[in-house]
Amino acid sequence: MKGLFPLEKFRTVKTPFYYYDTALLRKTLEAIKAELKKNDNYHLHYAVKANANPKVLRLISAAGFGADCVSGGEIKAALEAGFPASKIVFAGVGKSDWEINLALDADIFCFNVESIPELEIIDQLAGEKGKTARVSFRINPDVGAHTHANITTGLAENKFGIAMADMEKVIEIAATLEHVKFTGLHFHIGSQILEMGDFVALCNRVNELQAQLERHHIKVENINVGGGLGIDYQHPNEVPVPNFADYFQTYRKHLNLRPGQQLHFELGRAVVGQCGSLITRVLYVKQATYKQFAIVDAGMTDLIRPALYQAFHYIENLSSEETKETYDVVGPICESSDVFVKAFDLNRCHRGDFLALRSAGAYGEIMASSYNCRELPKGYVTEDFAG
Ligand SMILES: *Cc1c(COP(=O)(O)O)cnc(C)c1O
Repeated sequence: MKGLFPLEKFRTVKTPFYYYDTALLRKTLEAIKAELKKNDNYHLHYAVKANANPKVLRLISAAGFGADCVSGGEIKAALEAGFPASKIVFAGVGKSDWEINLALDADIFCFNVESIPELEIIDQLAGEKGKTARVSFRINPDVGAHTHANITTGLAENKFGIAMADMEKVIEIAATLEHVKFTGLHFHIGSQILEMGDFVALCNRVNELQAQLERHHIKVENINVGGGLGIDYQHPNEVPVPNFADYFQTYRKHLNLRPGQQLHFELGRAVVGQCGSLITRVLYVKQATYKQFAIVDAGMTDLIRPALYQAFHYIENLSSEETKETYDVVGPICESSDVFVKAFDLNRCHRGDFLALRSAGAYGEIMASSYNCRELPKGYVTEDFAG
């Protein structure tokens, strides 16, 4: 089975480009909304770093979600796309002064603070504006995730967050500072997580930390458990919408929230991953001694995940129904790692065929670079090809 693509319209634009299936994105947003509706204290802040295409952002903000930002540029993009400042959270280990000032001026919901020096600077900058910044502390829960080493973030060895042993100390320091208000705890253990057991481990850790704080009569308004839910890269057509029911049920079952406590999520990949495809055309089919290459006009500059994380993207030949043959699909960039997939079966390829690299909606377009002086790929949504 192949996905549904407006192939005739694809001929009118330059390849490579990203194509976002907005019907699928809407369906995904509805599935999340249906889950969140079951608990009025659950909130989603979409992780903007997964995909900041303005049209994609607009659809997500229109669904009523908040935004999780990791830079001043993302805060600007989120505000421009209509996300209310009151639903924006701001994480990152290296927030610059201008970024903190921007967030203070916008009056965002919360800074997710990752160190004591950062807390002191936020206090100072807020003081200069006569404001009080709401802060949560990102705690490194030392919980591993069964995912690629480059995308685990919750181990003690990672650069993210504040060590658990320092949690009470930072809360005490915050209490002595005039221009910050402690409002919660934040966690994020990694990305592309498909084993619910990893999230159970996080819940158990949060329960322990909450019990510890309670013994010292410290109240926490907000718990933010980050994002990380994975998608099925092998089966984009069979599993287009991630299993949000399982994901949220895991938290309902394993996380002990206190009365009135608000629970925040920061999903990125699971929201936008499956709705996007990188569309490319075959330039040449090259026969080598032991294999054949489909050389395409997209490269690692357009989609870096295979080169960066050995990630797999399912590929479809949208132009051919002929018998399948085995190809290495490679790009034109002058790097040996510019390979999308090795020994993959595709309907027989010809020069000019359109290939779709599926599940490319997250960490695709946003990570594109102009290495080799290439133009950045454009992003189109279904509506761009209507009529
Ligand atoms: C990247 C990131 C997310 C989103 O991760 P996904 O795996 O895309 O859901 C959420 N929170 C923080 C702090 C992040 O850095």
